[in-house]
Amino acid sequence: MKELSLETNSRVEMIDITAAVQKAVRDEGIKTGICVVYTPHTTAAVTINENADPDVPRDILAALDKAVPLSANYRHAEGNSAAHVKSSLVGASEIVIIENGRLVLGTWQSIFFCEFDGPRSRKFLVSIIAS
Ligand code: ZN
Repeated sequence: MKELSLETNSRVEMIDITAAVQKAVRDEGIKTGICVVYTPHTTAAVTINENADPDVPRDILAALDKAVPLSANYRHAEGNSAAHVKSSLVGASEIVIIENGRLVLGTWQSIFFCEFDGPRSRKFLVSIIAS
């Protein structure tokens, strides 16, 4: 398992971590298997979507902001319930297939770390299982 750190820069943000995950796979020297990308935070998430057009992550964040308003009579005293809800909606992990030492991603797919309560110091874990 590899632990990777990153700094987020805004309240909500999607950061492309594909290259870092691919490097972790390469460093492991595994040819075929699966790769789990997981974040151990309750106000962040991991997802796969398009990054060829930067408007896609922008639209995803805007849609999540609309679906889960910042304030809505939440009870959680810390004041970041919207971030907790978004984290559960998007999910804490993704699984990617590894073939010939490469992540099997579609042409337009990237792996994103999603920040919903930044800016903060964050981490994500990459665990690789050979098959
Ligand atoms: Zn909280």
